[in-house]
Amino acid sequence: MDRAATLRNDLEWIEQAWADPKTRVVVVQDSRALVRTRGGHPEDHPELILRAAQDAPAGTRFLLGVDADDVAYFGVSGEFAAEGTSRSGVEEGVKALQLRQVGATLSDRDAGLFTHAVALANWHDTHTHCPQCGTPTVPAPAGHLTKCPKDGTEHFPRLDPAVIMLVTDPDDRCLLARNALWPPGRMSVLAGFVEPGESCEHAVAREVMEEASIIVGQVQYLGSQPWPMPRSLMLGFQAIAASGQEIEVDADEIGEARWFTRAEMLAAIEDGTLGVAPTSSIARRLIEFWYGTELPEGPNSWATPPNR
Ligand SMILES: [Zn+2]
Repeated sequence: MDRAATLRNDLEWIEQAWADPKTRVVVVQDSRALVRTRGGHPEDHPELILRAAQDAPAGTRFLLGVDADDVAYFGVSGEFAAEGTSRSGVEEGVKALQLRQVGATLSDRDAGLFTHAVALANWHDTHTHCPQCGTPTVPAPAGHLTKCPKDGTEHFPRLDPAVIMLVTDPDDRCLLARNALWPPGRMSVLAGFVEPGESCEHAVAREVMEEASIIVGQVQYLGSQPWPMPRSLMLGFQAIAASGQEIEVDADEIGEARWFTRAEMLAAIEDGTLGVAPTSSIARRLIEFWYGTELPEGPNSWATPPNR
């Protein structure tokens, strides 16, 4: 999908695209979109419901992009019920789901549309006033920015950068931790928000020290994942711990943390004493990057991703 940034200020094109019957719209309500599921299960070949612009509800509109067939895609932050397919607005086999529930099983196109749409909907829903003067802002026609009618300032979507890190020790073991709020056995890699005035690399080292009292040396970027819940960008790193350190967790935040060899991790997943972060998450990608291949789900599989 081409995000079509060069068309965002072309008002004539935007109105033509909105009037085009080929145009498709993703409606987002309370961070959910409608998804058609076969057999009623989110895992079962789900499809994002895309509707014609004329069937879209009232609400803030934003341009998502244009595909290779010149079909334009928009998002609207509005109410599903406006579709009028039934009293509840939701037809048979269609569910209002969060990205975390279906992100891993949607097609690439649908997952990308949903991620983009929910990110912009979350921003529009929560950033309604000018941060300079408090006047209600007005979204631009493409919805990619808002303007203050009083002082003319422009405001762009906000992102919260967060680091998430695969920490390994000199024996190539992997550090996993359980958030204090998670049930027993569910573990993942460490993560935390980047603070103002801080580099990502520093945030990695600081978070590992704060959460596990481990000093890391080399910190290397691996990849990223948008995580609009509500507005994070997960930046994935690998960090190598110095040798001979004892883990000491921050008990307020971390329930437990320990090193795993590959054999220990596989055995713990298979016997159900460990469930690692789900396949939709960059956390799982980092763990499997270290492990070398896909891990099995095991009896303690996460039904839903961690909230970060
Ligand atoms: Zn203002």
